[in-house]
Amino acid sequence: MSTPKTRSDWENLAVSLAINGKAFINGEYRDASSGNTFDCISPIDGRLLAPVASCDLMDANIAVANAREVFDSGVWSKAAPVKRKQVMIRFAELLEENANELALLETLDMGKPIRFSKAVDVAGAARAIRWSGEAIDKLYDELAPTAHNEIGMITREPVGVVAAIVPWNFPLLMACWKLGPALVTGNSVILKPSEKSPLTAIRIAELAVQAGIPKGVLNVLPGYGHTVGKALALHMDVDTLVFTGSTKIAKQLMIYAGESNMKRVWLEAGGKSPNIVFNDAPDLKAAAVAAAEAIGFNQGEVCTAGSRLLVESGVKDELVGLIAEELASWQPGHPLEPTTVSGAVVDKQQLDTILSYIKAGQNEGASLVYGGQQVLAETGGVYVQPTVFSNVKNQMKIASEEIFGPVLSVIEFNGMEEAIAIANDTIYGLAAGVWTADISKAHKTAKALRSGMVWINHYDGGDMTAPFGGYKQSGNGRDKSLHSFDKYTEIKATWIVL
Ligand code: NAD
Repeated sequence: MSTPKTRSDWENLAVSLAINGKAFINGEYRDASSGNTFDCISPIDGRLLAPVASCDLMDANIAVANAREVFDSGVWSKAAPVKRKQVMIRFAELLEENANELALLETLDMGKPIRFSKAVDVAGAARAIRWSGEAIDKLYDELAPTAHNEIGMITREPVGVVAAIVPWNFPLLMACWKLGPALVTGNSVILKPSEKSPLTAIRIAELAVQAGIPKGVLNVLPGYGHTVGKALALHMDVDTLVFTGSTKIAKQLMIYAGESNMKRVWLEAGGKSPNIVFNDAPDLKAAAVAAAEAIGFNQGEVCTAGSRLLVESGVKDELVGLIAEELASWQPGHPLEPTTVSGAVVDKQQLDTILSYIKAGQNEGASLVYGGQQVLAETGGVYVQPTVFSNVKNQMKIASEEIFGPVLSVIEFNGMEEAIAIANDTIYGLAAGVWTADISKAHKTAKALRSGMVWINHYDGGDMTAPFGGYKQSGNGRDKSLHSFDKYTEIKATWIVL
């Protein structure tokens, strides 16, 4: 399928796009039981995209009951792994075959550049589904090392009904990081997309059925967190809750699980990741390119954004200058323009949050050295310049709290010990970058970092083979890789005396 070449090609496609805002339960699109809807607004220009079903407790009850019934029927949960593999691979193909439409929905819905919606989000979502599909018929269970007259079987079984609550920054990709391992291991899933970006989740539900996933195995309930999200988290018949989103809501979900049925809770939460550049970084220009991308990509709305740049004094001024040069190419533009690399932020509320942090940085005495302004307001959309603060102290609000926007805090240090101390002085522990030509220093720093992912002499590397997730208040468990299957399976020990 060819990619539209110009902004007007994409705009023409948008005109003919039929946007579906319904919930998907038991293989059918339907309105919320209450009949309520909320408006899905594009941050590109403020236009109304569609009314979307605003699901609540009633819909959660219906979807969970259906999901349980289909799970118990065994039509999917007991299907041979090779069968589930074939269906998942077909599902991945259908995502690819519909990539233009899915990319367009994603861009219209949350404002990211169309080039990345297609090449990163949709392509990554298809890869995640395919990777899980390909893995499932190559995994063996275990036999324990028993005495001669005994057999100890250690088997994995699907957990049952999984509720997956996902955020708006990579709506389709985060959903598919969950759906891949959740579905392929035989579970029934209820996906709750963010109220800020529900459209791709709604669309892929029918693609899943088209691929051969039995009706009722994948349900999608759009709606608010405090209504349908909370209902799922408190539900007595949801076995596992998987979540990607903020640390604040992640903590709340642990409370809900404790207040209800002690469902398993797996959390991918926030970050404030340090990107550490030592004086002996092998290529300062490459470090600058990566640092700019680490805060500019996806408008800084990335859990692993390199939002704290820790720079050793000897290279600080040169590096900050190089980053400012790089950020010139990360200016916001129209998201449907194929050359645009930075689009709109997700909504006015998020823009206001970002601007309030920029103000806080100025009030706390950090030096604003680049950006800092809202732009393109005349479009009716919400856009902000990439922004750099220098002379930041790690205790400042802009350095200690997750902003989720393109705001970089530059913090100076001297020596490896100080770098590690500053890097770890955070409630988060998601990711970190380390730039040095000294292999010993690279390893020592990587080992000392309390962080789920460490990237040496680059930023944000990895593929489906690498586990993704964090230490401390960045969450628990991992997405991607075979480790992600742990969230969706129970381990059973069957002991036989012969
Ligand atoms: P959020 O926590 O506000 O919302 C996430 C989801 O939770 C949404 O679907 C929302 O409707 C739902 N929700 C909100 N309140 C709820 C409640 N009381 N009960 C149940 N569900 C509820 O996060 P967001 O603003 O959508 O996303 C941004 C956050 O996601 C950032 O903190 C970012 O770091 C994090 N994130 C983490 C990762 C990761 O893998 N660690 C990846 C992407 C995003």
